Amino acid sequence: RSVSKYFPIKQGLLNRSVGSVRAVDRVSLAIARGETFGLVGESGCGKSTLGRVMLQLQAATAGEVWFEGSSLGERRPRELRELRGRMQLIFQDPFGSLNPRFLVRDIIGEPFRVHTKLSSRDIDARVVDLMERVGLDPSLRGRYPHEFSGGQRQRIGIARAIALRPSFVVADEAVSALDVSVQSQIVNLLMELQRELGLTYLFIAHGLHIVRHISDRVGVMYLGRLVEVSSADELFKQPLHPYTSALLSAVPKPDPRDQSERIVLQGDVPSPANPPAGCRFHTRCPIARPRCMQEEPELRSVSDGREVACHFPLM
Ligand code: SF4
Ligand code: MG
Repeated sequence: RSVSKYFPIKQGLLNRSVGSVRAVDRVSLAIARGETFGLVGESGCGKSTLGRVMLQLQAATAGEVWFEGSSLGERRPRELRELRGRMQLIFQDPFGSLNPRFLVRDIIGEPFRVHTKLSSRDIDARVVDLMERVGLDPSLRGRYPHEFSGGQRQRIGIARAIALRPSFVVADEAVSALDVSVQSQIVNLLMELQRELGLTYLFIAHGLHIVRHISDRVGVMYLGRLVEVSSADELFKQPLHPYTSALLSAVPKPDPRDQSERIVLQGDVPSPANPPAGCRFHTRCPIARPRCMQEEPELRSVSDGREVACHFPLM
């Protein structure tokens, strides 16, 4: 609810704060149990930061994060610790997120050692079960991460993330670093696990094409703000925000008869330390008008389940 996350910009020998980067600015969204909410936008738009704030890995500067009926700010430290196990992150980089000096059995077994009192033998049985669940050969659990392919390493990361039976999982660019063919295998695995374990996902990606298949709803972020929310179907059929439309037009067209034009956005993404006044997208928007430079559009509901932050949505 109206979550903001600012990072101070420090300068000089005294490390004085000279301003702040508004990584996430007044974002409100609700994700239903069992849903997959896709979150897209160019790098630096704040989507990873929002995911980390939702998981309480970073404290919000303002606003509240609610989970299963109450604000996390009101939970006791012990409750929060317990909740940590139920909210998990699957990392962007399967190469960087696994400790190269740990055996796979230790990586997947770590959450049990940290959060439970299970014996080594019980942990090993859990590791075997988890590896089977994510499509890895458990007889390889005595190996190191570098002995696995990128897709297999992402499976190791997923096994670790689901170890404690989370209910909410943030997948941050979980498939972006993988080959296209491997991407769909991992997406299918995530969808399978969702059905089996009743998971709820925040699925973060910079490209719309990646979220299309997996998401029920999609949110689009630009410079720290949420600019459009819609069911995935409707968003792809008819984007309402000019930025979404530009992102969509960059997706390769599967049908060569589709002659719709590619919208190439002019200009660079402005700095989140000093976002443009009015609508933050106005410096790159192909249909900007004078009003856009003065008045910031709020995210508002325009039709059933569709929200857009634009004075002149494409309807
Ligand atoms: Fe473009 Fe104006 Fe809409 Fe912003 S408010 S997206 S500048 S039309
Ligand atoms: Mg990111």
